[in-house]
Amino acid sequence: PAGLYIVATPIGNLGDITLRAVEVLGAVSLVACEDTRVTGKLLNRLGLKKRMVRYDDHADAGARDRLLAAMREEPVALVSDAGTPLISDPGYRLVRAAREEGIAVTSLPGPSAAVVALTLSGLPNDRFLFAGFLPNKVKAREDVLRELAAVPATLMFYETAPRLLDALAAIGLVLPGREVAVARELTKRFEECRHGSPDEIAAHYAAHPPKGEIVLLVAPPSDEAVDEADADALLREALLTEKP
Ligand code: SAM
Repeated sequence: PAGLYIVATPIGNLGDITLRAVEVLGAVSLVACEDTRVTGKLLNRLGLKKRMVRYDDHADAGARDRLLAAMREEPVALVSDAGTPLISDPGYRLVRAAREEGIAVTSLPGPSAAVVALTLSGLPNDRFLFAGFLPNKVKAREDVLRELAAVPATLMFYETAPRLLDALAAIGLVLPGREVAVARELTKRFEECRHGSPDEIAAHYAAHPPKGEIVLLVAPPSDEAVDEADADALLREALLTEKP
């Protein structure tokens, strides 16, 4: 049936494509994707030939409107280069617009690097907070970490190899005493997951420069650390609300 189908695709190992993803990709008349070459390769390996159109959330309203018009008439798939669309990937605006216009939206579950990393890391998973990519600039990055310091949950970030050491340094500085885990090349041949203090992990990767794709996880704060952060926040609030 017509509508939007959000289709998760593998994050490295092609074996992770779901039966349902193959079925739906085979049935749609149009595939909206980030990069037609990347998605073309996937479709090719699945033995499918499909009309593709490039889409990202910065696309002009006209491009989005054309996709919405297509979804009213026929089934349209949305995929990203790897993993689950919308998760640090395009699609949010498209889904929002589709819902506002009463177009049927279906999401096909599949791999997402954040969830794979969490289950693999051995860090507490009863509560977790996924925060996408940290900002590039030093001050903005530290501000985000400060904002998250008191959150009683495992923190998860997407990272890239060239930025890993900077991110670890910032975590060591702003969130001292917290264990971190680095999950790299998930589902691929050189998959690894290391944990330790930010210093230990940074020393390892300074000696063995990391390659490939990375999820960075930070253990929740200890109870005492949360109490301290709460006390800080209360004090700040008191100072701010105090009348001169
Ligand atoms: N939508 C994707 C998902 O659901 O996982 C994420 C897309 S985001 C643009 C790309 C980032 O995801 C990478 O920089 C890395 O942090 C993470 N990532 C993707 N594949 C990965 C893998 N195989 N191993 C580790 N991290 C991965």
